[in-house]
Amino acid sequence: MSNDPVLEIRNLNVDYGLGDQAVQAVRDVNLTLHKGEVLGLAGESGSGKSTLAYGLTRLLAPPGVISGGEVIYHPEKGEPYDVLALSDANLRKFRWAETAIVFQGAMNSLNPVHKISTQLNDVLQAHEPKMSQHSRNVRCREMLKLVGISADRMEAYPHQLSGGMRQRVMIGMALILQPQVVIMDEPTTALDVVMQRQILGQLIELRERLGFSVIFITHDLSLLVEFSNRIAIMYGGRIVEEAPAATLYRDSLHPYSNGLLGSFPALRGPRRELTGIPGSPPDLKGMPSGCSFHPRCPKAFDPCSEHIPVLGRPATPDGGTRTVACHLYPDVKPVGAPAAASSAASSAGER
Ligand code: SF4
Repeated sequence: MSNDPVLEIRNLNVDYGLGDQAVQAVRDVNLTLHKGEVLGLAGESGSGKSTLAYGLTRLLAPPGVISGGEVIYHPEKGEPYDVLALSDANLRKFRWAETAIVFQGAMNSLNPVHKISTQLNDVLQAHEPKMSQHSRNVRCREMLKLVGISADRMEAYPHQLSGGMRQRVMIGMALILQPQVVIMDEPTTALDVVMQRQILGQLIELRERLGFSVIFITHDLSLLVEFSNRIAIMYGGRIVEEAPAATLYRDSLHPYSNGLLGSFPALRGPRRELTGIPGSPPDLKGMPSGCSFHPRCPKAFDPCSEHIPVLGRPATPDGGTRTVACHLYPDVKPVGAPAAASSAASSAGER
């Protein structure tokens, strides 16, 4: 893993709807994905994780609107550029070749009436039209082998494969153009835990071999602790804490992260009581004032319901490697510039 950034999300805001009716789904998100890194993104349903992924790849369906920010991509060759400012033609080249996404329940996205070979070939034909049929077939076979599926299953239809195999095909499809960034949105939620761990273990192995970076989105923090280098926690559309995975597991600062960590049993070490988090995630149409976690927070105090805490580096010895947004840490050094005026806020569907 290197310290060079591959994707920088700066002050990203995403709304659903326009004007007074707009619901703020993602607010002032600043995140950097480094080359070769697995960055985990965790939070309860409705925290904005998937909206963030769709926003940064401009896959938001209306009424999703990117209302501000930048997503700076660093290609292997050439100058960095803002994904949010790409023309439709360049966006088409960017997707899949530079950044691929594996959706929730992706295994159900395979077309049931086409063979696996046809569907893998389609991707290559669309993005590398000059490639010969022979070379395409060779690449498809290699890709299936890489994700642990025998090449003789190329001629199978999706219904002839198990759920785990179909999900592997989708991961192979995402990697077939060797993108620098792969976004996995709850990639194994529909699978049993054994298959889940097998596939994720394989993905990490592939990442080590091929060198791509991963944004791994899940509500299951225990998976992230095991498989990611760094973890960012989202609540109410904002990043509330970010830290190296081991640091977050050992010593999380934000009361919401503590609640998430207290919601799953430790596999090793002494037994600990499962505490969970009381209450429900906030309704985005009527967000609580101040820190949106305050109605559920066991440590809430006076300023919490009045002021939104700023995300910044805490004054702790390891403060250079982590950030937190909580009034319990008033001396943080803020990260990210003040929210830039929207550069031509527009519907992602229109770009
Ligand atoms: Fe709890 Fe206040 Fe920190 Fe929010 S800002 S997490 S309410 S202590």
